[in-house]
Amino acid sequence: MTAKMIDMPSGARDIIDALMSRGFEAYAVGGCVRDSLMGRVPHDWDVCTSARPCDVRDALGARYPIIPTGEKYGTLTVSADGETFEVTTFRGDGAYSDGRRPDSVTFSDNLADDLSRRDFTMNAVAYNPRLGLADPFGGAEDIRRRVIRTVGAPRARLAEDALRIMRACRFASELGFSLDPDTAAAVKALAPTLANVAAERISAELIKLLMGSHVEHVLNAHREVLFAAVPPLAALDCLEQNRHHFLDAYRHTARVVAASPPVPEVRMAALLHDVGKAACRTVGADGDVHFYGHAEISAETADALFAKELRFSGDFRKRVLLLIRHHNAEIAETGANVKRWLARLGEPAFRQLLDLNAADAAGHADMARERREAKTERLRLLLDVVIASKDCFSLQSLDINGHDLIAAGHEPGPQMGRLLRALLSAVIDGKCDNEKSALLRYSTQI
Ligand code: ATP
Ligand code: MG
Repeated sequence: MTAKMIDMPSGARDIIDALMSRGFEAYAVGGCVRDSLMGRVPHDWDVCTSARPCDVRDALGARYPIIPTGEKYGTLTVSADGETFEVTTFRGDGAYSDGRRPDSVTFSDNLADDLSRRDFTMNAVAYNPRLGLADPFGGAEDIRRRVIRTVGAPRARLAEDALRIMRACRFASELGFSLDPDTAAAVKALAPTLANVAAERISAELIKLLMGSHVEHVLNAHREVLFAAVPPLAALDCLEQNRHHFLDAYRHTARVVAASPPVPEVRMAALLHDVGKAACRTVGADGDVHFYGHAEISAETADALFAKELRFSGDFRKRVLLLIRHHNAEIAETGANVKRWLARLGEPAFRQLLDLNAADAAGHADMARERREAKTERLRLLLDVVIASKDCFSLQSLDINGHDLIAAGHEPGPQMGRLLRALLSAVIDGKCDNEKSALLRYSTQI
């Protein structure tokens, strides 16, 4: 490995030079080195150093703004040349007694200690422009072979921090790498211990896993991990469907996730859209399998999951639940009906719903797929026509508001919202023009 092989942003280079000129060791480390070795552009650069946080301040503080992001754990964020860099003192972690976080963080003077506590060989690589690559665990070779392998004994390393089980699958999904057989066996055996990991940490890795371009393979190949992270998915495993399907409910789910656009709420909705199917599977007199009401049950199951095992913002939850709840709705193909859906969901969520429908179609058997795909395509065209027409489909674009109605003698209060929505419906249904005097007249008749 020659010094030229990794192209570093000038800010990272300056930070490393400044630390070295004070006699400290400093390296770019982890994901940025891995991505550079793979020919991918790193999204951020982390630096590790023998300097303690106070020494990092002394060496860099006069030149660069420093944000104390995790000083206790040895991390300072340094802003240099328009970018920010996390600069972290070499660490040799203490014991892990709860399988989650190290009981204590101990600093080290030694790069080897720091690399040996990292999760996978591909991430336990460091690079210094003058000294070249530091790769004590064969990370570069594993990257070349496209293999994810723990640093050290897989079971021990995964038991120390069970989140690594999820991270192994997340990297497999993002990078298209496979798990080394010993690491894969330990991942499978220890998957249930993910239950001890904080919901926030699992959720962050789950989103990254879902966004990966190899997600379908990972969901199928490492299903034990998904069932531990998202327990209700286990009920879909091998769940036989009906003649509209060629995949069982779990494999169908994996296909729909992969066919969805890489937008976090759409992929999460895809993962959970059928999660209530096991609970409402019935077999009719004709022998056909039905899942009546499964969209609502799936939304309820997802809601309970978001309250317990996973943790996302209220806004994200709301958007995901909306998509799940409506994913199986029969949307009539008329302009007025499309406007009604627009009034209910807003344009971005309605477009996401159609994206989810298209992905869902891709997971169906031939006839059902073609019918669903064609219908979604027609609805998209109709939606474009409605939007281009600039016709009214929202309270904001109604030519009347609460103040106008109060001025005309209507009582303020909750009934005002109902009245405005009724006026919007009348406009959408063509019963009243979107024009203030017509709306005022109409408001006296309802
Ligand atoms: P990404 O490109 O997604 O940011 P990354 O490898 O930089 O990937 P991070 O989550 O940003 O991943 O973590 C930075 C580095 O810290 C990793 O490369 C790895 O060396 C180390 N690391 C992160 N989480 C763990 C963990 N749970 N156990 C051990 N090492 C970890
Ligand atoms: Mg990173």
